[in-house]
Amino acid sequence: MSKAFNEPSFRDGVNLMVDRAISVMDLDDGVAKAIKACNAVLQVQFPVKIRGKIEVFTGWRATHSTHRLPSKGGIRYAPYTNQNEVEALAALMTYKCAIVDVPFGGSKGALLIDPSQYSRDELEKITRRFTVELVRKGFLSPSTNVPAPDIGTGAREMAWMADTYKNLYPEDINYVACVTGKPVHHGGIMGRVEATGRGVQYAIREFFRHKSDVKSIGLKGSLEGKTCVIQGLGNVGYHAAKFLSEEDGVKIIAVIEHNGALINNEGIDIEQLAQHIHEHDGIQTFPCAKFVEEGQAVLEKKCDILIPAALENQITMENAERINTKLIVEAANGPISFGADEILNQKGVVIIPDAYANAGGVTVSYFEWIRNISHIRFGRMQRRHDEMRGMQMTKVLEEATGHSLSDQIRHTIGRGADELDLVRSGLDDTMRLAYQEIRSTMKSNKLITNLRTATYVTAIRKIARSYNEVGVF
Ligand code: NAD
Repeated sequence: MSKAFNEPSFRDGVNLMVDRAISVMDLDDGVAKAIKACNAVLQVQFPVKIRGKIEVFTGWRATHSTHRLPSKGGIRYAPYTNQNEVEALAALMTYKCAIVDVPFGGSKGALLIDPSQYSRDELEKITRRFTVELVRKGFLSPSTNVPAPDIGTGAREMAWMADTYKNLYPEDINYVACVTGKPVHHGGIMGRVEATGRGVQYAIREFFRHKSDVKSIGLKGSLEGKTCVIQGLGNVGYHAAKFLSEEDGVKIIAVIEHNGALINNEGIDIEQLAQHIHEHDGIQTFPCAKFVEEGQAVLEKKCDILIPAALENQITMENAERINTKLIVEAANGPISFGADEILNQKGVVIIPDAYANAGGVTVSYFEWIRNISHIRFGRMQRRHDEMRGMQMTKVLEEATGHSLSDQIRHTIGRGADELDLVRSGLDDTMRLAYQEIRSTMKSNKLITNLRTATYVTAIRKIARSYNEVGVF
């Protein structure tokens, strides 16, 4: 689609966005070059015997930056992936980590595969073999390069990878920290599965806390009743849509999937839809909304908030003019091409960019990694102590006032935070602070006219500080 407009590749598009940010900064040329360069790219091809025949699989892992270690980023399984995409995504990880103060470099990986064509056992075999390739070539370890889930992968694949690494290096006491996004009972952390979607919700909430920002898109008030179109109901899209609709009163008026879209101007019940997809393997027969085959066109439906949460390059120079919203939140990586970004900026559409909007995943991955290397669950030491303090507080309050507190207040004050509470609190804090920082970067320089440039400027400043203070090896 975008080819007709001769748009740059995904990787070049990211670099152009970074260049746009660098052009408004006073940055040393050498440092700028060092920041932009992709440090290393590994391509592997390996054979696996499937159903009696040998198949050769191709995979990549790109390490964009190592100014902080480990380098961090997901691994996707997709039939359309390529090295250019992996390098673009690895670069995004560098800026993303900087923006949310996660002390990691940026990396990304991919395996060229359509996972739906393989059984669970076959996928396990392929994943374990891919892991051996990455480990043996120095692209996977708890201290240097730590993958996480992305499109087509989840906790199950991460568990296989961690187990493979453990079998190769049983003497590594931190082996479980070699990947994040693992199942909770295999070293994972509560709240990681929901983290990216949850982070999207926290980012939107923070935007709506700033009245002038809300006014700038012609809206007012809270999130309650605002209309939203979401593309992709996978891990990220499902959680974002669920939390925004169930907890903030946002009306999800359309859901776009790979084979069509559902529209209901009164709002779609996301949990009901997810259940339907689970039972019927698709959205077509969902009874509570109108199904349309041409899903892509629904991106142009009028709404208050548009959330692309599926793939890159969904809004391009071909359809950007027709986008009919004032706020786009990039839950996916790179859903807006460089050319489309320029068009949307001119149209006055506010874009909360991917490097910030979907950073919830890597933030909670960071918490998981800390949990793994400290070998203790968050809250284990202090939860009961906090509860005891809370109980004492209620007692003192009751004695001082002569009134007894309701059971609900007693419960609220007396409850110690568990791991999920702490993860959500840490994520909320991270998303709020990062937005405030981006916002103040934007306000500090008249040449910065959009949130994406402000995000990159904020991130590049932090990375540049690391190069300037530590130097290069
Ligand atoms: P996923 O595989 O769980 O979900 C992707 C969803 O998009 C699926 O429901 C799929 O059917 C749908 N889809 C595919 N092609 C589509 C199309 N052409 N139109 C509409 N829908 C389509 O993947 P995910 O983990 O939710 O990742 C989604 C995006 O978020 C990706 O860009 C990914 O890089 C990004 N991301 C994911 C995480 C994470 O923690 N999983 C973190 C940061 C960013």
